[in-house]
Amino acid sequence: MNHKILMWPDPKLKIVSAKADLSTPEAVAAAEQLALEMIQVMRAAQGAGLAAIQIGLPTRILVTDSWALFNPKITVRSPDTKLVKEGCLSLPGVFETVRRATAIEISAEYQMEFGTSSPRGPRKLRLYGLQAQVIQHEMEHLDGKFFLDNVSPMKRARVLHKLQTRVTS
Ligand SMILES: [Zn+2]
Repeated sequence: MNHKILMWPDPKLKIVSAKADLSTPEAVAAAEQLALEMIQVMRAAQGAGLAAIQIGLPTRILVTDSWALFNPKITVRSPDTKLVKEGCLSLPGVFETVRRATAIEISAEYQMEFGTSSPRGPRKLRLYGLQAQVIQHEMEHLDGKFFLDNVSPMKRARVLHKLQTRVTS
């Protein structure tokens, strides 16, 4: 295992990930193994979440501090939203304000919860605050989107300009 986090604007980050294969016990074991590797990458980089595409694998798996979620879907978004500062492991050092639903409900075809003995398998979750924010961010990665897609083109251009000067100076 030697996964590297892709850096924005790597074109791979625009790939819409395909469903994780969970059709056999072997496929589930392989997906779980990948999630465990992703958790290590995420923790080493001190992130709050990571999507598989961020290490170049276009499969619908994401991890946070609490869960690995396989083929997750957001089923409900609260009408209440909040402006929050957000960053991404694929763009270290850049934080921008984005609007997020304050609460969401998700359903995952399969999940592992870390640090508990709760059973693995399909699961529905209701999440609030930071957890809801992290999942909304990671779900966008699964659909080939990036959190800066949520800010104005002017702000995005400013970030790109800063990055270019960072590279050339
Ligand atoms: Zn991200």
